[in-house]
Formats: sequence, structure tokens, C-alpha cells
Amino acid sequence: MLIGHYGPAFIIKAIDKRVPLWGLFIAVQVPDIIWGILILLGVEKANINPSLTSNPLDLSYMPYSHGLLSCIVYSLLIVAILLLFKTKKQIAWWMGLAVFSHWLLDFLSHRPDLPVYGDTMKIGLGLWNYPTLAVIVEVGIFVVGAIWYAVAVGGFKRWAAVLFWLFVVVAVIASSVRGDAMSPSSASLVAISALCFYVVATIIIYIVEKNERRPN
Ligand SMILES: [Zn+2]
Repeated sequence: MLIGHYGPAFIIKAIDKRVPLWGLFIAVQVPDIIWGILILLGVEKANINPSLTSNPLDLSYMPYSHGLLSCIVYSLLIVAILLLFKTKKQIAWWMGLAVFSHWLLDFLSHRPDLPVYGDTMKIGLGLWNYPTLAVIVEVGIFVVGAIWYAVAVGGFKRWAAVLFWLFVVVAVIASSVRGDAMSPSSASLVAISALCFYVVATIIIYIVEKNERRPN
């Protein structure tokens, strides 16, 4: 799951406008950012298997980035760090929840490749086994979140509105054609593309957020 993770980020910002959306955009992708780095470092392992539905990645070893226990630790660590830097308590907990939402959505979509502890007890509800439904759910969460956020902040100044909706549309189109239709040559390439996408998406959202009509 890629853009679906931004759904909870949008929704949290819509509910509590004090939480910075650009920060939430990073928080919801923490496990995947760690995954990308660890794949490039050769610590975690994944192979391309074109016969897999929805996502051609065979995620054989990712105890650090996607273990249930690891993700709980990352969530609490973010809360602790933010509280240490005197962030408001509620905002810190929203950020922690954003980090953990990544694991929850991955649990829904992944095949059983998410270890509970270490590299053991791999779980996943396997929505990816139903490619059409997987796309509908992912795009649905993203679009509902985006609309909810846009309404909550009263829209954006003109050019920022164009930037925001262009981002939404491009992300939806890219998500709808990815997966089975795409056959990347290596897991490292997937990791690099994903990391680049997270940086670009966060920059876009930072600009959009500065141009909300009703900023908090
Ligand atoms: Zn993930």
C-alpha cells in the first residue's frame, strides 16, 4: 500500500488542525521509509515475483521495518521524542497514531509477510489477493481523506488548489495502474522510487498546507 497510507494523515489533520499535515505525511510512511533504507543497505530482503497479485514484491524478510513490535516501538518513540521537544501532548499522540496506522493498513492489505516479533509469526489479511478490491479500498481511503481534509480547511488559495487536486489525481491514476501491470526489475528500484515519491509528496503537501484558506 502506498497512497492509502496518506488517508489517515488527511483525516487526522481534518479532525485536529493543529497537527501539521506535512509531519503526518512523514509519520504515516515511517515503516516504509525504514524499509526502503534497509533494502538499499541489504539488511531486509525482498524479491520480485511477477506472479504475485497487486504487488510483485515478495517481502521475505522485514522484521525491523514492518514487525508489529517494531512498529509499536516506532510509534511510541515518535511520541516520546515529540514530548521531549515540548510538542503538545495531543499532537504527539496523533503523530504516534499516524505511524501505527501504517502497520494497520499494511495488515489489511499484505499477504502474511508481517512478522509479529523478530521474523516470526507472519500475518496479513491479504487484500492484495483481490487486486481490483485492493485498488478500490486504497484509492477510496486516500480520496475520502483528501476531500475531508480539503473541506475541513475550507479549500486552498487558487494555485495551491490546482497543485493539491493535481497531486490527488496523479496519485490515484498512478495507484490504479501499478501492481500487476508493473514489473520492476529489482526491489532496490522499488525502494528508491518509493523514497523519492515520499519526499516529493511531502514537499507538495507542505506547500499546499501553507496555502489553506482556514489555517490553524
Ligand atoms: Zn509498509
